[in-house]
Amino acid sequence: MIENSSLWVVSDVDGTLMDHSYDLTPAKETIKTLQKLSIPVILCTSKTAAEVKVIRKELNLKDPYIVENGAAIYGESLKKVNGEIILGKKYETLKEILNLISKEIDYKLIPLNNLTDSDATELTGLKGNSLILMRDRHWSMPFLNPPTFLEKRINVCCKKYKVDIFKGNRMSHLLSINSNKGKAIRALKKYSNNQDFQIIGLGDSPNDLPLLLNSDIKIVIPGIDGPNLNLIDQLKNLEFTLASEPNGYGWKNEINKLINELKLI
Ligand SMILES: [Mg+2]
Repeated sequence: MIENSSLWVVSDVDGTLMDHSYDLTPAKETIKTLQKLSIPVILCTSKTAAEVKVIRKELNLKDPYIVENGAAIYGESLKKVNGEIILGKKYETLKEILNLISKEIDYKLIPLNNLTDSDATELTGLKGNSLILMRDRHWSMPFLNPPTFLEKRINVCCKKYKVDIFKGNRMSHLLSINSNKGKAIRALKKYSNNQDFQIIGLGDSPNDLPLLLNSDIKIVIPGIDGPNLNLIDQLKNLEFTLASEPNGYGWKNEINKLINELKLI
């Protein structure tokens, strides 16, 4: 389907398609409409493949999906590459790099997977089996946000070890410089061999900047307290739409508007 569709919807998940209580209900009907129109809905998230599988099942999605902040793309339909395109470095390698950076800045950067269950629940709101799925990482390294005063020194280390750090609302992500959400979109585009389509991109935080920069139509989804101002600032010279409602409600409204404007129905 990605090979012959004239439109792709590429969407972040947390805070974009659903709110921080992980409710997918508001966007469900609109996703069904997109499916009827044969428009692929490509989830593009910092979540793990194990977590996205649950969401795809709930939404009945069959399109490829981008996980771990763009470090890997999976999908049954990616037959030419046995169902996966990997852009990232292995988790264990990233863990070593995180330790090296910690030594250089003399501050212990803590992997998300090292938190106790109760600390992880407090940070993410996830419990029980959801915690197990969240920890099933292979190509990216989420860690606790470092103090702001260390950011400059951390950035120097990133250059040295050929990694990037994306700071999210609740945690940071260490990734190979070869992987981010935008690079994953470009890899999927290349795989599809389809050069003649538009991308509607939707995101809510600075790790979605590469996603939005690789989208023809850029939609920023605000949270309940408004949009992420850092993301808005980075997009200020570009054309983008700020959804008028938060999370899945904003998602649904903006996609429905575009379905009408583009006369897809
Ligand atoms: Mg998000």
